[in-house]
Amino acid sequence: GERQPTNLNQLADEYLRLAYHGLRAKDKSFNATLTTNFDDTLGPIEAISQDIGRVLLNLFTNAFYAVQQRQKLGQPGYQPEVSVTTSRCAQGHVAVRVRDNGMGIPRTVREKIFQPFFTTKPPGEGTGLGLSLSYDIVTKGHNGTITFDSTEGEFTEFTICLPANEEKN
Ligand code: ADP
Ligand code: MG
Repeated sequence: GERQPTNLNQLADEYLRLAYHGLRAKDKSFNATLTTNFDDTLGPIEAISQDIGRVLLNLFTNAFYAVQQRQKLGQPGYQPEVSVTTSRCAQGHVAVRVRDNGMGIPRTVREKIFQPFFTTKPPGEGTGLGLSLSYDIVTKGHNGTITFDSTEGEFTEFTICLPANEEKN
């Protein structure tokens, strides 16, 4: 892939819908509330669009899986929600935040999630490569950061923060 001007709002919107419709095609009873909070003042960033697209798709896929699992618990009144927010983070940096109200990440699992092949999913449902690949794309490929916050049984939120332009930040 090549670096090119990348509209993160547009990329996030496309991949959010792609992930959602992909899951709905397999599970017609699944439905989630999607919320987007895009900062329309953000300009394009210099990025390998295809790679950032893969990162976003993985974050959305994980988020939908987590809310789907929680929906299966059948808690009264539970409504799956996935939201995506863009904003400025550090000076010259742009953030994408993906939040879900799914299962959350247990304390004992947190330190392992970026390791290659680590997964809590049954065979066939996860390779455990999504977050390790995402970590490499964001940190090594784009000089950015990827962080998360989570409370078990409540929510998970991943944030990627990317320099808008490697030379000018
Ligand atoms: P995979 O999705 O194939 O399991 P990932 O590297 O994408 O691999 O994720 C690793 C693990 O991190 C998952 O198996 C899961 O335990 C945890 N995880 C990632 N995202 C979330 C999330 N949004 N909610 C709960 N757990 C998550
Ligand atoms: Mg994954």
